[in-house]
Amino acid sequence: MRKPPASLLVNTPEIELWPASLLRARSNQDARALSRADTVLRRKRDGRFLAADSRAGLLPLVPRLKREPGLDAALDALDALNAQSTPVRGGLAREVATLPLSRLHERLDSLGLDAEAYAQRTRLGLVPEPEWLAFAGFDRWRRPLWLLAPAARAWSHLREAALRDGIVLEAISGYRSHDYQLGIFERKLARGQTVDEILAVNAAPGFSEHHAGTALDIGTPGEPPAEESFERTPAFAWLRENAGGYGFAMSYPRDNPHGIVYEPWHWRHDAA
Ligand SMILES: [Zn+2]
Repeated sequence: MRKPPASLLVNTPEIELWPASLLRARSNQDARALSRADTVLRRKRDGRFLAADSRAGLLPLVPRLKREPGLDAALDALDALNAQSTPVRGGLAREVATLPLSRLHERLDSLGLDAEAYAQRTRLGLVPEPEWLAFAGFDRWRRPLWLLAPAARAWSHLREAALRDGIVLEAISGYRSHDYQLGIFERKLARGQTVDEILAVNAAPGFSEHHAGTALDIGTPGEPPAEESFERTPAFAWLRENAGGYGFAMSYPRDNPHGIVYEPWHWRHDAA
């Protein structure tokens, strides 16, 4: 028996280890590989599937897999996962270790983003990524949602409680990697935007609460995602009344000290 649990995302600096059952193939070749695989190695920067691991071994899904940056760390994590000796196995209540921030610093420098000045201006700190995350159900678009285990449990309880009161809550977005946020910056820079223009709309990579796996953007059916109009919905009224009881608080109320726009949809779970 070596089938890893289908409810964990194992995180390494450049590559994520996904349960194959939660991924949708983008090509026929990938579909065949995924149908037999337990775990898929996925490049964080662009989501590309790199290799599929099954009982039969590791099947490369890209040419030159061996030269893929960060592959060694990912293979170590895969061995640990298959041997069930990964720290994840220690139990869901454990503190989750985080990945080092050194690589993020390098990439912020290469983007020309002054992280220190940004941190001072916004009074935000760098947020390291956790080593693993728990499956927290699906978001509005049926994409897997990942959160730290206590946040995942709290979200499930929060949704159930809301449903009992006739309120439907949907997840819009949970955990996001540094690479995901860096990718947004790289694409916008390539289209000719300046760093300052991008920062007016997007948090600097590394500074978002979503990197920690504790933040959740919440929506409700019929409402556009992440719009201020969410504050006029019964779902928002319900959250204001009840979310605190489940450990959730709004991170960016009006006139917050970080100068971040009012985000009635963005809630953070604090494990007490
Ligand atoms: Zn958010």
